[in-house]
Amino acid sequence: MTDTTLTGGCACGAVRYTSTAAPVLTAHCHCRDCQRASGAAYATVCAVPRAAFRVDQGETRSYRSIGDSGHGVVRHFCPTCGAPLFSDVEVAPDLSFLRVVSLDDPAVVTPTAHVYCASAQPWDTHPDGLPAFPRMPG
Ligand SMILES: [Zn+2]
Ligand SMILES: [Zn+2]
Repeated sequence: MTDTTLTGGCACGAVRYTSTAAPVLTAHCHCRDCQRASGAAYATVCAVPRAAFRVDQGETRSYRSIGDSGHGVVRHFCPTCGAPLFSDVEVAPDLSFLRVVSLDDPAVVTPTAHVYCASAQPWDTHPDGLPAFPRMPG
């Protein structure tokens, strides 16, 4: 991956964003907050340096909740279409956590783990061979 610029946005096109740096990690998160916020069994997220991330167009709305980690997470979404876009994890203030499926090309990133599998749904099996952690490793 020579071009590290990532672009993405919401479902209706009102919000557009850019990261000028490549992700430092990409994982499938099975925490209950990601399940509720996404409406899906898990959320695939990638973390980019917050200094390299910017919203180019539109404005997000956000809400704060306490995640399974016990720390605050501010989740940003499009107020028009409701698409989840990115999160600020208060314990990791130097990173922005992007919803991978909001990227224009989600295939450019490669998930390397499943995290918060302690709250994964029993019917959500993931036979992809990736390491699976009950919470966030490290
Ligand atoms: Zn939208
Ligand atoms: Zn999560």
